[in-house]
Amino acid sequence: MNAMVMEAPGKPLNYRQVPVPEVGPGQLLLKVIACGICRTDLHILDGELAQPKLPLIPGHEIIARVVILGSGVSGFKPAELVGVAWMGGTCGHCKYCSNGRENLCDNASYTGYTIDGGYAEYTVAMADYCYKLEEKLGQAAFAPLLCAGLIGYRSYSMVDKGASNIGIYGFGAAAHILTQIAVARGQHVFAFTRQRDDVAQRFARNEGACWAGDSGQLPPERLDAAIIFAPAGELLPKALEAVDKGGVVICGGIHMTDIPAFPYRLLWEERLVRSVANLTRADGHNFFKIISRIPVQVNATIFPLQQANEALRLLRNGQIQGAAVLVMD
Ligand SMILES: [Zn+2]
Ligand SMILES: [Zn+2]
Repeated sequence: MNAMVMEAPGKPLNYRQVPVPEVGPGQLLLKVIACGICRTDLHILDGELAQPKLPLIPGHEIIARVVILGSGVSGFKPAELVGVAWMGGTCGHCKYCSNGRENLCDNASYTGYTIDGGYAEYTVAMADYCYKLEEKLGQAAFAPLLCAGLIGYRSYSMVDKGASNIGIYGFGAAAHILTQIAVARGQHVFAFTRQRDDVAQRFARNEGACWAGDSGQLPPERLDAAIIFAPAGELLPKALEAVDKGGVVICGGIHMTDIPAFPYRLLWEERLVRSVANLTRADGHNFFKIISRIPVQVNATIFPLQQANEALRLLRNGQIQGAAVLVMD
């Protein structure tokens, strides 16, 4: 089969033939329809996430159809539509798995990082970690729901339900999906982008943001919560400055540059800062339930698999509005 393979950090992906993976116990062999490109893929390729399997097939926003069921798998049928996300497996018995926080599992495997992912025509995944998808999600554009959507939703679920003003720093794939959900629930979204990025600010307003501006600016109203998706540590004090008393700042990314020192008064008055790591399967099921009630549009730019390096370059340069998705031939 054709695959885009990471041979070493800092090198472009290599388009080459690899064997179709063998399906093991508890696994599904899947024919990939599409795989979204996540910013995490850039961090892996750049060596900022330091323990990738090598060589590696990246990609953890996978929409696929079941081909073969491994031994012991029940509840799936051939040709069924499934999604595969970042959490590839958890141990089931560490202290985190035991208390409903499997997103923090000590022995987890991660799709497209410690196990092969979806930048390929076929992949295998643990059936228990695959999401059954409604048929209407069987289009390439929906692949980013599997990470941008899910991680965005987990970040959003940390926001108090009564929050009315929500700031989002970094208006990419996760932000534009989340904005549609928040707006449908009657919340106000304030979008922060790179300086003078008029294209991104217009995009944010089109997706439903009531205000869009530079990340260095203060919004016209105090925020109840802020979610930071951009990997820039200097945004954290900015976001703290923008949130009201008792507000929360949530860091939704897996990697961020160093956070500069800031005066205690920005944190005082019971403001909170927290990160979001990975996701639980319960988050995933909740998210897809919400999506079936609040249909979201994903603004996706589609590339053939062998153009993954070009798609990654555009994402890195902030030239993708929404999400980039690879499709298999
Ligand atoms: Zn991701
Ligand atoms: Zn565990």
